[in-house]
Amino acid sequence: MSFNIAIDGPAGAGKSTIAKLLAAKLSFFYVDTGAMYRAMAYFFLTHGIPPDDENALRAACGGIHISLSYADGAQRVMLNGTDVTDQIRREEVGSMASVTSGYSFVREKLLLLQRELAKEHDVIMDGRDIGTCVLPGAQLKVYLTASVHTRALRRYQELTEKGQICDRAEIERDIEARDYRDMHREIAPLTAADDAVTVDSSEMGIDEVVQKIYELAQRKISS
Ligand code: C5P
Repeated sequence: MSFNIAIDGPAGAGKSTIAKLLAAKLSFFYVDTGAMYRAMAYFFLTHGIPPDDENALRAACGGIHISLSYADGAQRVMLNGTDVTDQIRREEVGSMASVTSGYSFVREKLLLLQRELAKEHDVIMDGRDIGTCVLPGAQLKVYLTASVHTRALRRYQELTEKGQICDRAEIERDIEARDYRDMHREIAPLTAADDAVTVDSSEMGIDEVVQKIYELAQRKISS
């Protein structure tokens, strides 16, 4: 049986950075479910489908095929056979994803793929609903959070390092809006599972968070 670790939390809490490092340390597969929602949003955006046109979005879903591949341990996201890993990181794709992820037909499509991956491999899967909906039986569940201010600052630094021009106050407003949408949607809202360990990374460095979750995982693996 595979060993599954679920890491949920709001946008910018550091889930993907932490999960990637942990996956390498434990030799697990890293599955970034946010990237899957982003890939679907990228398809909708590039096909000019507005986020409130439910019928057009639903119809488009049939023509979307998403898969993950791994190159040098890093996850690549394929959308209909094209690698869109870099394009989906843009802010407008994240904002679109936070709206279109509220549709049940979008979630159902990705749920199957996510469960399949977790059944076949030892995974660290990060997202919003992994511990509560996707993998309720995960052996370890972590709810990783940080203050809105800290998360906005981290996102700002990440984007400027990549050479993107952005406004910090706008990123903070966008994070607040995404938190609200993710936490208040009808289907699979962002919330900590009852049996999740909450880790607040506002005052913690990356290595400290990795070490904490690594120890939690080791305890579960050896029990
Ligand atoms: O984590 P990331 O910012 O890449 O996710 C993009 C969007 O995808 C989130 O704002 C959220 O609305 C959605 N998402 C989700 N469920 C997941 C992962 C991401 O609804 N498991």
